[in-house]
Amino acid sequence: MNRRLFLKNTTLVSIGGLLLPSILTTNCRKEQLLEDVDYDGKVIIIGAGVAGLYAAYLLKSKGVDVLVLEASGSHGGRMGKIPGFADFPIDSGAQWLHGRNNILGDLIQQTNTTVTLDDSDLFYWFNNQLVTSLPQDTAIFEGEDLPDISFKDYAIQKGLGAEYQYIVENLAGDQGASAATLSVYWNNKEEENWVSGDDDFKFKETFFDFIDTQIASKVTDIIQYNTPVTAINYAQDTILVSDLNGGTHQADKVIITVPITQLKANKIQFSPALPAEKTDAFSKIGMGAGMKVFLKFSTKFYDENIIGGSVCAAYADESVGKTGNDNILLAFIMGVQAENLTALGSDSAITTALLQELDAMYSGQATANFIASQVENWTTKPYIEGAYGYSTVGMGDVRKTAASQVDNKLFFAGEAMNVNGHHQTVHGAVETGYREVINLLKTVQK
Ligand SMILES: Cc1cc2nc3c(=O)[nH]c(=O)nc-3n(C[C@H](O)[C@H](O)[C@H](O)COP(=O)(O)OP(=O)(O)OC[C@H]3O[C@@H](n4cnc5c(N)ncnc54)[C@H](O)[C@@H]3O)c2cc1C
Repeated sequence: MNRRLFLKNTTLVSIGGLLLPSILTTNCRKEQLLEDVDYDGKVIIIGAGVAGLYAAYLLKSKGVDVLVLEASGSHGGRMGKIPGFADFPIDSGAQWLHGRNNILGDLIQQTNTTVTLDDSDLFYWFNNQLVTSLPQDTAIFEGEDLPDISFKDYAIQKGLGAEYQYIVENLAGDQGASAATLSVYWNNKEEENWVSGDDDFKFKETFFDFIDTQIASKVTDIIQYNTPVTAINYAQDTILVSDLNGGTHQADKVIITVPITQLKANKIQFSPALPAEKTDAFSKIGMGAGMKVFLKFSTKFYDENIIGGSVCAAYADESVGKTGNDNILLAFIMGVQAENLTALGSDSAITTALLQELDAMYSGQATANFIASQVENWTTKPYIEGAYGYSTVGMGDVRKTAASQVDNKLFFAGEAMNVNGHHQTVHGAVETGYREVINLLKTVQK
């Protein structure tokens, strides 16, 4: 989400082609190992989200024999596109590039891709009014000497009254969590490593289109779709990967990129079992509910960002940075709010709840101007089942253990395996794809 944008209060400053400077922040990009790859083994990558796609792209471009097994019928994972809902392209999942100092920032520059700095206006729904600033600073969740307690408990400890409940829920929601589950200490500790930069960028087309064109299109021929992996036997030199269709695939190395929800729920059986410290690390990484609802209206009666609703703590004008005439408001719903809306049981009930909240904020204009809605519930999508990895209370420094390789055979990538503070993001997932390709090549270095 536009996590850093929400902490600012400035206006949109740039539309059109913006070229990003190439700042090398991940020294892994300088790795020599990728220069002269000489590996004739077989690699299977599990999952065709952006981490798996990028790993596949790197290995294939170096002539390595790679197969990607993807459970669903399409690639992209938590990235996708909604065709036909608006007269401009819409991302069903990730849409903002958070910061420019990363592999994707470099790729944008190399490919002359048009992106827009999103610095749109911010309003808070506070004490039943729309206001442009809050009486008390919510930066209390950042800084030194923070306790390992939840955002919710810390807000109470610091004297934020009940009127701040959904402001705090928004801060946690940006991290894909509920205020009751996100650790102030670990969230802050992990954020300390963030080097990507603080600006948020939107794509003229979609983020999905960018990844599709620049990365996925180069590897679609090696993706086997509709192939959910159920078991990995790595007891012998040759690894046996079994799928739900009864297929068995042989590999020398396997890169696993499935969401952390799938690993926590043991959706893939490993034999031998994974080390206990590793499965314990999986269990400590959070991944909560998340959904996006797009609301189409006949007029733009709403503000660019509205923070603090009790049904949805973050609404954003979807047309910012896009060319088109349709009025689309995004309801970005995470954590307990996404759980509550999912429990309503139907898209129409979810839409009604959101319209009622917007009616209260804008004197009935939401229902009066409503045309259509589109619900994208990532919590109920098979093989994803949530939003993105967050830092739980009592988590500890477990991400390195979760991401560590096993027996020089199994490698773990995906956003939740990012140990540089870039978990939760597309560029963070890409970085893990890169890292694990390097780690894999190190094990076969001649
Ligand atoms: C609503 C929402 C909004 C977001 N907004 C942003 C944003 O604006 N900016 C940003 O940077 N990030 C955002 N993110 C986060 C970003 O989308 C993810 O961090 C990133 O896409 C994760 O990529 P990944 O490759 O790690 O995992 P995924 O994209 O989840 O890919 C994993 C793949 O594994 C497949 N799979 C699962 N189980 C199996 C199995 N058993 N066998 C085979 N395949 C399997 C899945 O089908 C999936 O394709 C958002 C996420 C959500 C949900």
